Amino acid sequence: MANSKSNTESLDAQLRSISNRLDAIENVVHNPTVDDEEKDSSSAEACGLPDVPLRELEAGIDPDRESLIRAIEKKWVNGTELKYYFFESGAWGGSNSQQRVVADAFDEWKEVGIGLNFNEVDSPDEADIRIGFKRGDGSWSYVGRDIWSRPVNERTMNFGWLLRGQDGRDTALHEIGHTLGFQHEQQNPFAGIEWDEDAVYRYFTGPPNNWSRQKTHHNVLRTLDPNSVEGSQWDPNSIMQYGIRSGLILRPAEYRSGLRPAPGLSDTDKARVRLFYPEMASRLKKLERFSAERLDLSPAQQANFVIKPTATKRYQIQTFGSSDTLMVLFEDNNGNLEHMAADDDSGWGHNARLEVRLVKGREYVLRIRLYFSEESGEFAVMLW
Ligand SMILES: [Zn+2]
Repeated sequence: MANSKSNTESLDAQLRSISNRLDAIENVVHNPTVDDEEKDSSSAEACGLPDVPLRELEAGIDPDRESLIRAIEKKWVNGTELKYYFFESGAWGGSNSQQRVVADAFDEWKEVGIGLNFNEVDSPDEADIRIGFKRGDGSWSYVGRDIWSRPVNERTMNFGWLLRGQDGRDTALHEIGHTLGFQHEQQNPFAGIEWDEDAVYRYFTGPPNNWSRQKTHHNVLRTLDPNSVEGSQWDPNSIMQYGIRSGLILRPAEYRSGLRPAPGLSDTDKARVRLFYPEMASRLKKLERFSAERLDLSPAQQANFVIKPTATKRYQIQTFGSSDTLMVLFEDNNGNLEHMAADDDSGWGHNARLEVRLVKGREYVLRIRLYFSEESGEFAVMLW
């Protein structure tokens, strides 16, 4: 972001705005129903996420600005087509029926009505999401845009046990939830869970998980920053919430005998994913050369443009003004949007900028998601 002079009033307003929007959704859909029949979590293996270091931001950054950045930074720009690949043979290979469970779970997220697209591809080189089925290696996924930090010959997601019935479906929905940028719900600071920590360490360091104490802390006991989670309410029925066996939670007292989230995506899960990835209009405004487009966005909102170059040459695309954004350029390949370049200037004292060679006759799509701007509507994007 350029011009890091803080405008506290504007920041407060933006924080209130994103938090109010999320709360409004959650107040409408919050549904405390728990179905005790469906999920018995008494001795299940649990999802254990890889530990990824926090992305570095400029020293001395305003804590409120950092909070907004942390709330949004793992999310994809809306409209991204995420390509997934299943390993079919070798140590990571999975059967057709196991692949089907995961493909169906992608469809279930899509059917919520979101702007992301998911498509299966035949080669790991083309894929954003590379899915293995190595037994005994746990079930896990990298979170959101972190999957792009993984080399193309590595998995970004694994299923370490057989996916069967509703539990198997829920495991697939949960891991895909991570890939969309969502974290574990039991670590939601608004859950107010008081754990029996000794019992938690005993349980997760023992079979079938056999986790280290560090991994147990990372996935269960560690409380997330209040501003890095969606909204200010805990959803015990979220697909991102572990089933918890009896004796691990001390308070709330109603969960001492265990916590069994209702199966499938909760209404809050659906509302949260739609907030970050609403369905998109198909017609986009054209970004013309040397014509600055003023952007009036709230945090987490996004602007989308089509670019139709009139000459083949190198172009610059840059934001102007005090803004933190993620800017991503795609080439439109007969309706498939291929990722070309991205810049994320959030938390730094410069603007998002791309220098790319564009070809006359082809079409490109530019997407800009706002983390934070000092004054609403006081930033712009230009192509030249
Ligand atoms: Zn998980």
